[in-house]
Amino acid sequence: MNDKSIVYFASTETPALKREYSLARKFDTIIDRLGVKEVVKDKDVAIKMHTGYKLNYTTIHPFLVGRLVSAIKEAGGNPFVIDILRQIRHARLKGYTEEVIGCPMFPVAGIKDNYFIEKKVNFKGVKTLKMGGSIRDADVLINLAHFKGHNSTGYGGVIKNLALGCFTEESRYAMHETIMFDSFLNVEKCTDVDKLIKACPFNLIKWKKGKLQVTLDLCNQCMRCIQTDKNGCIQINKKNFESFFEIVAIAAEVVLSEIGRKNIFNINVAFDITEYCDCWGFTTGNILPDIGFLGSKDILALDKATLDLSVDKQLIIENVSKTSDINNDPELHPLARIHGPYKDPYIQIKFGEKHNLGNTKYEIKEILPAQKISKSAPAFPKAIKLYQNTAKHD
Ligand code: SF4
Repeated sequence: MNDKSIVYFASTETPALKREYSLARKFDTIIDRLGVKEVVKDKDVAIKMHTGYKLNYTTIHPFLVGRLVSAIKEAGGNPFVIDILRQIRHARLKGYTEEVIGCPMFPVAGIKDNYFIEKKVNFKGVKTLKMGGSIRDADVLINLAHFKGHNSTGYGGVIKNLALGCFTEESRYAMHETIMFDSFLNVEKCTDVDKLIKACPFNLIKWKKGKLQVTLDLCNQCMRCIQTDKNGCIQINKKNFESFFEIVAIAAEVVLSEIGRKNIFNINVAFDITEYCDCWGFTTGNILPDIGFLGSKDILALDKATLDLSVDKQLIIENVSKTSDINNDPELHPLARIHGPYKDPYIQIKFGEKHNLGNTKYEIKEILPAQKISKSAPAFPKAIKLYQNTAKHD
């Protein structure tokens, strides 16, 4: 038995300017290789998406969603798209309509966000998680995620698409709160609260309702507050940030167990990689080059492979928000250079492994690889060599 999970990868490299090597055809080929068409006949097939909020539009192009929907229909399946309620309300503005994509769209937990099944988890203040009933209704789940940066986990991919995107608003809020569960403030020790508040250039430390409050969700662990506060009033602990990574892994495992791993197909669309998640409600410039499409039956192997393919990419510095710090540690994933070392995307992989989401070992099978298909040497270097040789004899 192969102890590595298979990850299909279609890069942005173009073997030749032919329709059969286009990105749309590569996306179709990923769907084919995953074996989606073999299992969807007479099945209700949920396509879980993150369609973005308000002014965000750098999500997965409706044209590609339409191609996936067509493939499912041609194979006899009954597809529908699901997303969280507040995003479904804005999906039409980005072109996600039944006329364009070819299937209806439903809120994951119904139009009142109260159609769910409850699962016990008992983790850092979260007793239960409420998974959307529309997910449970599906026979097959296509986990179709946009790969991008994220302020709490460094990145968002297929794990987060299930973990946060398949639950009610109440559960999503509770998951986010785990970052504050372990105590990190001791106000009695604070001798100068104003100085501490001013130490954070991102305005994350506030005095509100008679309490000191810190928004760790947005903290990049610059440690300026620690350097100002010498008495231990505030601590920036890895443990707090890891709590969110862990509840994300726990929530993803709930969905995998409910639907059954054999009925789930995962796709990362690693294009338009922005600094923040699509849920922020606006689009900014891409901060990493496009990578391509990746697909796998194994959710953990897929996110790991996508991170590995992006780890050596150069940040597009000019597109990083001017209010962000950029950490120069070359050991960090580029997304952790922005969101901070305690939000390194690989921490998600560690907790994914702990909660048995899948395999961290994988084998990449490249779809239509440019290097193998393109046999002729590039024209311009040849021409340059010819010119250089001619110039020598002149
Ligand atoms: S460590 Fe976080 S809270 Fe402290 S100053 Fe930096 S960003 Fe602000």
